[in-house]
Amino acid sequence: MTEETKNATHFGEDVFGDEAIRTYLSKETAKRLQATIREGKPLDPSIAGEVAHGIRHWAMDRGATHYTHWFLPMTGSTAEKHDSFLEIKDGEPIMLFSGKNLIVGEPDASSFPSGGIRSTFEARGYTAWDPTSPAFIKRHGNGATLCIPTAFCAYTGEALDKKTPLLRSMQALDKSVKRLMKLFALPEAHTGCTLGAEQEYFLVDKKYWEKRPDLVLTGRTLFGAPSAKGQQLEDHYFGTIPDRVLSFMNDVERELWKLGIPAKTRHNEVAPAQFELAPQFEELNLASDHNMLVMDTLRNVAERHGFKCLLHEKPYAGVNGSGKHNNWSVAYGGRNLLDPGTNPDENAVFLTMLTAVIEAVDKHADLLRASVAGAGNDHRLGANEAPPAVISIYVGDQLADVLDRLESGGKRSHASVKPMKIGVDTLPVIPKDATDRNRTSPFAFTGNKFEFRAPGSSVCCSGPMTVLNTIVAEAVDRIAGELEKAKVAGKAKPGEHTPAFHSALQKILQASLKAHKRVVFNGNGYEAEWPMEAARRGLPNAPDTPSALAALAKQENAALFVKYGVMTERELLSRHEIFLEEYAKKVRIEGTCARDIASEMIFPAVKAEYLETIDAFAKAEKVGVSSGTAALRESIVELGSGLDSLRSGILKLEESLGLSSDAAVLTAMQALRTTVDSLEKRVADSRWPLPKYRDLLFLY
Ligand code: ADP
Ligand code: MG
Repeated sequence: MTEETKNATHFGEDVFGDEAIRTYLSKETAKRLQATIREGKPLDPSIAGEVAHGIRHWAMDRGATHYTHWFLPMTGSTAEKHDSFLEIKDGEPIMLFSGKNLIVGEPDASSFPSGGIRSTFEARGYTAWDPTSPAFIKRHGNGATLCIPTAFCAYTGEALDKKTPLLRSMQALDKSVKRLMKLFALPEAHTGCTLGAEQEYFLVDKKYWEKRPDLVLTGRTLFGAPSAKGQQLEDHYFGTIPDRVLSFMNDVERELWKLGIPAKTRHNEVAPAQFELAPQFEELNLASDHNMLVMDTLRNVAERHGFKCLLHEKPYAGVNGSGKHNNWSVAYGGRNLLDPGTNPDENAVFLTMLTAVIEAVDKHADLLRASVAGAGNDHRLGANEAPPAVISIYVGDQLADVLDRLESGGKRSHASVKPMKIGVDTLPVIPKDATDRNRTSPFAFTGNKFEFRAPGSSVCCSGPMTVLNTIVAEAVDRIAGELEKAKVAGKAKPGEHTPAFHSALQKILQASLKAHKRVVFNGNGYEAEWPMEAARRGLPNAPDTPSALAALAKQENAALFVKYGVMTERELLSRHEIFLEEYAKKVRIEGTCARDIASEMIFPAVKAEYLETIDAFAKAEKVGVSSGTAALRESIVELGSGLDSLRSGILKLEESLGLSSDAAVLTAMQALRTTVDSLEKRVADSRWPLPKYRDLLFLY
């Protein structure tokens, strides 16, 4: 890093990265630690003591007094339990941090959801350092904490977190890709998965947020009539960023840069008060950890600016919700395998990977859908703004044409299709903007990567990325197996494949494309016809979380994760149980909160308005004024019947909360909302107890 960059960004200042490693460790230890990090291996215990000593000194030089193993439990957020370096030895206070403290931790973490993996008597889990994600410093008002990114497992070795399966899925993909690349006679290299996670969020002024118990407790508004102005004018997207927001963004970026997170892009999003932050892509595991820190930082810095940052997928009805676009690619020895390349050999690798992804997504659309399921995202997927709940792939017309030609192979199926032969024909140059125009697809090829757009804004990237890696590992593995059977590869030099190799590859890809091209859809995903067309094609369409999560309980899906060493059947089933329970709990919290707001805040306000109107009417009658009394009478009737439906809506919701059906709660909540939102238009603004959409969306 140049001095100029360093001074301007303080980039990586709070990360135990290369520079800190060189400064705080001996040459030999530094070399061994760096090798461990590069190869993604566990830390050699013989250097752990010195590494821990060095990390502690580095951390204390930055004001840290405590350390924590930082991990991703199944709750979907991050977890930390702090210990100080301080120890009393022989009556003397000293600062200590041992190799053992660095490598493993034993938080008494019995309250994390485990989905039946642990019972309380064997509740202890342990955390283990993941050296591929560097230690970092987390600062707060008057101090700092050393954070060590870790995996979190039960004593049986079973994963209790979201990082462990991700790391395993990266290994699975690495193994498959190596097998395939060997057939392409490429020198053995490291398979890297890359992720760039675009993060959408809303900001709301804290003084309004505080007055909305629904936002406080559930992260979304359970009531609220539409504001006269919403996003109709499309004037927010890429608009001038207001000063107050810009200074918030600046502070966020400064903190992220210090943590070595390459925050790159910031802009206004489509909905009012909605924004986006996109980092430059990084190695997947690191990028996934970094996204968790991005969410943390957004929330923390917002507080300092008098904002609340809403990461919920759908804080407001009637305007766009927030997603987290996961841009994903696979690199081998530094070369992006999803880059079409410029010659027939590079094209062959690209077309093989592209076909593998298409095959994987078609075969396991149910798993991808399950990986983005959640109570919040249910309000987004399938609504008329977000990617639909049907998982399909957008490749763009030009690439679709290439795939057609590839599938037709040497033969000309009809006059208009010019056949394409692998190893002979060169791909046309595919301009990036030609592949990126369709924003309605949940899974789009965007020039040299795929963009999975279905994940919700609050999701931890690990889940969807674990699934994607695993299903692609399977498809790559299958294709490699077929190629091996064809016995055509092996001796060719890099970049020189025999015609026999190319023709065998072509046959394999043709068969795959024939079987799986139904998942490719280049049309408008928001159109009402698409779900019907998707049904005709036999594509699954899970409209809500419980139906989407069913994929995790399928025998064949367990077999897939087991085969690729990503999850045991018990681990997968535990996830099914945890996510279903989380969903049910969230729905019930929302239902209870809606009931409370309706009965404690809305009902009294409407009643007061009703009584005041009756009072006014009675006074007018008394003094014998007739003008206005008709209006007052109508108003009394409206408010009175509003009160009646409010009461019955509250009772219905209460009744549904006693039933086991989550759908019944959601339906009752929606009905109550309709009543409340129409009453919002009938009660004096000064009396309405909740800040309105126009306040929440425009006053910041
Ligand atoms: P958009 O038009 O969707 O904003 P960009 O080209 O700006 O797209 O990229 C969005 C994200 O994709 C960024 O985080 C970027 O770093 C990331 N990205 C670019 N190339 C890759 C890649 N090879 N692998 C993973 N992510 C990538
Ligand atoms: Mg994008």
